[in-house]
Amino acid sequence: MSRVLIVGAGLTGSLCACLLRRELQNKVHIVVWDKAKGSGGRMSTSRPPDSLSHSADLGAQYITATAAYAQSHHSVYSELMTAGVLQPLDGLVEGLRQRDGSTDYMTPLGMSSVVKHFLSESADLFFEHHVTGLYRRGASWEVQRKAGGSEMFDAVVLTMPVPQILQLQGDLGHMLSVEQRQQLDGVVYSSRFALALFFPPDVVFSFPWAARYVTNNRSICYIAADSRKRNADGPGRGPSLVVHTSVPFGVEHLEKDKEDVQPIILQELHKLLPDLPQPISIKCQKWRYSQVLTSVPNCPGHMTIHDRPLLVCGGDSFVHSNFDGCVESALSVLSVLKASL
Ligand SMILES: Cc1cc2nc3c(=O)[nH]c(=O)nc-3n(C[C@H](O)[C@H](O)[C@H](O)COP(=O)(O)OP(=O)(O)OC[C@H]3O[C@@H](n4cnc5c(N)ncnc54)[C@H](O)[C@@H]3O)c2cc1C
Repeated sequence: MSRVLIVGAGLTGSLCACLLRRELQNKVHIVVWDKAKGSGGRMSTSRPPDSLSHSADLGAQYITATAAYAQSHHSVYSELMTAGVLQPLDGLVEGLRQRDGSTDYMTPLGMSSVVKHFLSESADLFFEHHVTGLYRRGASWEVQRKAGGSEMFDAVVLTMPVPQILQLQGDLGHMLSVEQRQQLDGVVYSSRFALALFFPPDVVFSFPWAARYVTNNRSICYIAADSRKRNADGPGRGPSLVVHTSVPFGVEHLEKDKEDVQPIILQELHKLLPDLPQPISIKCQKWRYSQVLTSVPNCPGHMTIHDRPLLVCGGDSFVHSNFDGCVESALSVLSVLKASL
């Protein structure tokens, strides 16, 4: 059996692991490592430390299927709809640009439930496994971890944002061709902060919308009544609010600690929603790599860095930053793995 390591338990890594298991069950042993304490990556759903009745999506907010992707990724959409992981987004989203033939979906249990759905049948999953280096050892890869120690794999798939791939030590850097290096160096991500505010169960927001794009504020670009957006408000369940800062704000404050940036965002939020009740808990997230502004050019959703042993990169850097970009990349990584294993 070939041992395959997938680095990253975000959407690309989890879907790739799931499809690989379905297609090559008896031929591969799949292992997923993620440096975080839980799954989801940028499709993360957060809870306050001592509450199971609150949750909020700090990264991706909803999924928009264009007519073309609804058709080409039909099996993925229909699986998630049948499992109840995706439901049509029917709350009011102020400022949302409707595109012809596209459909918006929300996740009643939060965005990470999409990733968890795929991980549930996929692989040996290990959190707090931070990969720091890759070294070629004959027909295998030795993969080193930050905590110390290493393991050998027959094939490795990297699904983190390209700037994080380029930080890896070892042989990866030497194996890139001049053209590949140029392609990867050209990838650009936006940066932003996200804030989740959790409220007591008896709080009812006074505004009518489930989410709102903010156009007249230089710090905040989006606010969601997150639990309302997911139809998750109800008895005993506390409402949550999510705030995304604009990209210029993200860039301006990128090197500051999130604890120092949180009060600035709250001050701006208060100007936009002066009647907002007092939250019982707040979580701030810095997305250094938020959404791809410039993806890898001329790329079919993955980049093969080395054939034998296989080292392949995927993720939204290689397509575009949304659900369908990740599905597209996972499918393309899968085709490389199938051909190689
Ligand atoms: C604020 C924000 C809003 C967004 N809004 C939307 C939206 O509304 N709709 C939509 O479709 N998309 C949206 N997106 C984009 C979407 O979230 C991403 O395109 C998608 O989640 C990327 O998935 P991925 O698996 O490719 O990468 P990631 O989710 O980044 O997964 C990579 C994983 O690799 C792990 N990792 C990184 N380095 C290492 C390492 N060295 N060792 C081990 N593990 C490592 C990370 O912890 C992470 O879990 C948004 C993103 C952000 C940040």
